Amino acid sequence: MDKVLADLIKISNTTGKDPALTQAAGGNTSVKTSDGKFMFIKASGTALKDMNAHRGWRKLRLDKVIGVIKDKCLAKLPAARREREIISRHLISCCDGIASTARPSVEANLHALLDKFIIHLHPLVVGAYVNSKNGRKEITKLFKSEKFPPLWIPYAPPGYPLAIKTSRLVTAYENRFRQKPAIIFLAKHGLFVTAKTAPDAMRLLHKVLNRCENNLPILKTLRLKPPAVKKILAVKSAIQKAVLNTTGQRLHVTFIYNKAIACFLHRPDAAKLLAMGPLEPAEMVYVNGTPMWVETLSAEKIASGMRKIVRQGNKPVSAFLVKGIGLFIAADKKTESIVKDFATGTTLVRLWALHFGGLVPLTKTEQNFIKRLYLAS
Ligand SMILES: [Zn+2]
Repeated sequence: MDKVLADLIKISNTTGKDPALTQAAGGNTSVKTSDGKFMFIKASGTALKDMNAHRGWRKLRLDKVIGVIKDKCLAKLPAARREREIISRHLISCCDGIASTARPSVEANLHALLDKFIIHLHPLVVGAYVNSKNGRKEITKLFKSEKFPPLWIPYAPPGYPLAIKTSRLVTAYENRFRQKPAIIFLAKHGLFVTAKTAPDAMRLLHKVLNRCENNLPILKTLRLKPPAVKKILAVKSAIQKAVLNTTGQRLHVTFIYNKAIACFLHRPDAAKLLAMGPLEPAEMVYVNGTPMWVETLSAEKIASGMRKIVRQGNKPVSAFLVKGIGLFIAADKKTESIVKDFATGTTLVRLWALHFGGLVPLTKTEQNFIKRLYLAS
């Protein structure tokens, strides 16, 4: 096996096994071959921890991927057609003999622009900055001693618009610093770290995450007194009925009560914080949006709230934050843990962001773009 591919699998598995790094199995990795002609990149649909010598990656011709970003004709296409066209061009660029429809990561364009080894993640400790008003200022302060400061990319919708914005800002960075950025923060999205070798990429990743984490506010320790079993069962039953009523699915409902959920529910403005909406596109696409705020035990009222969310162009919600009680998840076994990660994560990021000037979620326009492109059936 190609040495760089072996290194890529190793760093992908290491990061993928750490739940603090890969929220809900998100993120992707890549490496470019020494001759600069090819790029191995995580394939869509495989978790980082599951990448191995036989599956979970694709090998692309780098000139073809760069050609996609440089093709100005793509900008003129309607967004949905353009994104489909890019996926098919990426598939055509594959030269690995893998008889699979597994496409290269949707973020392949971004990877093509950067240094040799790349780790891209959506860590919660980064969310606190990329989703807060003063996040960019805080990051500048945190990394002010670096000779080559992190690059900050203001929000752009995923896919082509983000690749074009990144390309422009990476070029400007190279003109100024005579090298590509090693650390990139993407507003309302996540983090990219890049390096010449796999161990250097891992070291840089941990350095950035530690620095971000050590600057976070410490959440007040609350006495975690879980609610009475009777009450939990009553809520479970109401949610199960509401979900059946709205979606026709009889789903298992799980109750979750941890420090993040307890801290969030103790805030008098919890409902308001949640109503600010999704923080990032992944929250809309992979877990049916932000948890729904519930103050009632009436299945009919919960169902009516769910139907309202669907009428607004969203998928039926699968997480419910119930006032004074806790988090409830209605999902099948396969998606339950992903929803749990996102729901707990979104409450944590909302609490942390308050410390950095307040929360900056996706705007209505940004949400509508995601709805049109990824949620419309
Ligand atoms: Zn991403």
